[in-house]
Amino acid sequence: MVWAEDKKGNFSVRSAYGLAREIGVVSGNTSCSNPAFLHGAWRGVWNMNLPNKIKHFSWKACNRILATKDSLFRRKITANNFCEECGRHETTMHLLCFCNQSTKIWSSCKISLPFNVQESWSFLDTFSRLRCCWEAQHGKLECWVSICWGIWKSRNEVQCGGKKRPGPIIVSDALRFLENYHSANVKPSQSSSDTQNSAVWKPPPPGYFKVNVDGALFTKSKQSGVGVIVQDEVGNVVAAMCRKLDLPLGALETEAKALEIGMTFAEEVGLRDVVFEGDS
Ligand SMILES: [Zn+2]
Repeated sequence: MVWAEDKKGNFSVRSAYGLAREIGVVSGNTSCSNPAFLHGAWRGVWNMNLPNKIKHFSWKACNRILATKDSLFRRKITANNFCEECGRHETTMHLLCFCNQSTKIWSSCKISLPFNVQESWSFLDTFSRLRCCWEAQHGKLECWVSICWGIWKSRNEVQCGGKKRPGPIIVSDALRFLENYHSANVKPSQSSSDTQNSAVWKPPPPGYFKVNVDGALFTKSKQSGVGVIVQDEVGNVVAAMCRKLDLPLGALETEAKALEIGMTFAEEVGLRDVVFEGDS
């Protein structure tokens, strides 16, 4: 691939990324025909003030890749798509909102939804609508998603032979997990010595994510490694990955490979407004 310059005639990673998207080297998610809608939803998922494991749960639910019976059946892993609890079709929305078990759980908590959710909606639809309605209500979406995660976690525990927990306990455990996360993540005021000693990481512009990539060479084993970390505008880590490459690359080639892997990774996690940064 030959990378083109931008409108002003300068080469930049951004122009290369745009070109890569255009020609399909990094493919767009095709599960929804409205890119703006999807973009807002992905931004909403990764911007939530939630532990990473709950963000990843939301991301999987939005992508219809939670290991529900429906998903496993579609991938021909299970013989049927019946819910173990009630025998109906176990989609993500059935499991989280409409199953006998989940309706009991929701009735035991104080969160009221601003509209009637339809079983035919996808999790992505529901999440996006709630995100719009609750935009001004700080933390409400996070509570709803955390309880969904609690229901999912509880369902998996039961499937692995664990004991079924009462609805109010599932709700309180999920909300306590969220509360503990918030308490542990209160950002301390930065001391002057911290400022002097810390590596300089410049945040991306508001609304953007920064993808830092780095490559490492292991000359003895003729291998290289690549690390990618994605952070939001205030430095929260939203995704990270690393990969070993069984290729005897040079230093510059490894950095280029790291950038390529970082671009693909950013696309896979559904981010569009991104700034890339390497260390050389
Ligand atoms: Zn069910």
